Amino acid sequence: MAESNITREYVTQYIRKITPQQKGVLKELEKYAIEHHVPIVQPEVAQLIRVLTKTIAPMKILEIGTAIGYSAILFAQALKPGGKIVTIERYDKMIELAKQNIQKAGLEDIIQVIAGDAQEVLVDITGEFDCIFIDAAKGKYLTFLPHCLRLLKTGGLLISDNVLYQGMIASDKFVVRRKKTIVTRMRQYLDTISHHPQLESTIIPIGDGVAVSYKVRSDSGE
Ligand code: SAH
Ligand code: MG
Repeated sequence: MAESNITREYVTQYIRKITPQQKGVLKELEKYAIEHHVPIVQPEVAQLIRVLTKTIAPMKILEIGTAIGYSAILFAQALKPGGKIVTIERYDKMIELAKQNIQKAGLEDIIQVIAGDAQEVLVDITGEFDCIFIDAAKGKYLTFLPHCLRLLKTGGLLISDNVLYQGMIASDKFVVRRKKTIVTRMRQYLDTISHHPQLESTIIPIGDGVAVSYKVRSDSGE
């Protein structure tokens, strides 16, 4: 396990040891992700997602950042019968792999992969989602937010991954020069969701940092 600026290694190791292992396709994908350096959600984040989504039993989930389909398949396990997932990915190789993996998991009728940059794709998405997961370009979360607020139902959950980005968001001492813009934007994102009139948000220092936001009202309250 790489040294973390967010968590303490002995705590993470303990949590990972006590958390039940994934089975089947998810287990295979974890192995693939390690071997091919695909940044899927970390095990303790996967477990948080599992608990949160089982609590709300969503009918519709929107994901930004599919990669190989790991988190989409994980989300699928908490869906209400008849529920659906829409997931957006811009990288062709990942889209191909995700589709294969989703088929392997027998979820091709449940998970729809949309190819394209979320910034463009989101404009055309309509409907109401019970849960939205943002796990893509870290400098773009703030531009995704208006769409997420439009698409998330009142009482729905917005989950954002990697919001503490290797410790850089909380402390300048970890910021490397070429990441400065991303860091500034992510700080703006966290500030916005933390003070937004439609959201109640919490930032959880597990994995690479996860924000969980509950949409409390449909209007901005102004
Ligand atoms: N959610 C996945 C991991 C996603 S990794 C899991 O936990 O299993 C982040 C992915 O987001 C990458 O595959 C990257 O290509 C994609 N991505 C980044 N920015 C994006 C954007 N603007 N639009 C669509 N996909 C994007
Ligand atoms: Mg992530």
